Amino acid sequence: MKKSIKIFAPATVANLCCGFDVLGCCLDNVGDEMIISLTSEPGVKITKIDGANLPMETHKNVAGVSVEALLKKYGKEIGVEIEIYKKIKAGSGIGSSAASSAGAVWAVNYLLENPFTAHELVAFAMEGEKLASGNAHADNVAPALLGSFTLVRSYNPLDVVRLNAPSDLVMTVIHPQIEVKTSDSRSVIKQNVKLKDAVQQWGNVGGLVAGLLTEDYELIGRSLEDVIIEPLRSILIPEFKAVKEAAILKGALGCGISGSGPSIFALSKGEVTANLVAEAMQEIYSKTGLDFDIHVSKINSQGVRIMK
Ligand code: ADP
Repeated sequence: MKKSIKIFAPATVANLCCGFDVLGCCLDNVGDEMIISLTSEPGVKITKIDGANLPMETHKNVAGVSVEALLKKYGKEIGVEIEIYKKIKAGSGIGSSAASSAGAVWAVNYLLENPFTAHELVAFAMEGEKLASGNAHADNVAPALLGSFTLVRSYNPLDVVRLNAPSDLVMTVIHPQIEVKTSDSRSVIKQNVKLKDAVQQWGNVGGLVAGLLTEDYELIGRSLEDVIIEPLRSILIPEFKAVKEAAILKGALGCGISGSGPSIFALSKGEVTANLVAEAMQEIYSKTGLDFDIHVSKINSQGVRIMK
């Protein structure tokens, strides 16, 4: 008999200013839906993609590649069918590819009665990220799988830490409808950093982690600063500076590029401020003539979840 589940595969905001490739957090009301089934015929098949024009071939779709990595380790011949209902646009910078990779491996693991821990699933989902961007980064798939905020303490060996977060944090994200490929926005980054900048950046990473764990909103705000990547990448994002200034003026704790962009995120204390920030972002972008989406979301402490 066919075993099937429907899941919510959440969007995520990676980097969070200072934590390039190491920090990320999980959104609660923005994400894809997926239906994953175990079947009697071995092999992984993408049977439906709704809402986006993405490859149906297993080896070209991040969900297919991630599940194949899981099954290789599992070591038994299993049949899997994947339906993807895309709500997060590819190239949005809020973890479109990560949602598919994380969602697919989480669901298959669940249907197989959890042979792997959520931490172990991160490594399989990273194979999907490698396909999407040429780089097996974990800063989107880790928060999608573990929920809340995550820190990749080390890539080799992989060491991912889940961080509890203050419950009043609310994310505002604006997604301008222009595509910035992760691979393109990685190419504008310099391979060397000045020691002075590195010192400031790792001070901020420590400050942000400490601020999250001690629920110190002001420390979180002071630490949401990026002196290395943002000056280079923000050039690719229309009205970045104006949006950031407006968000801070409305009371956001901090504002920066979401993942590799073009989405811009702001973190606020409480929904009232987060909505004011959303209005300010909307006002600026309405004048550009560009299409955009705005999301206001609490932090999702659970990650991928089953839908009824
Ligand atoms: P994002 O940061 O929004 O995830 P990326 O640029 O990292 O965007 O990833 C999108 C790339 O991954 C696109 O080239 C897309 O064609 C490819 N891709 C393959 N499978 C999927 C999938 N299931 N969901 C999203 N993107 C996918």
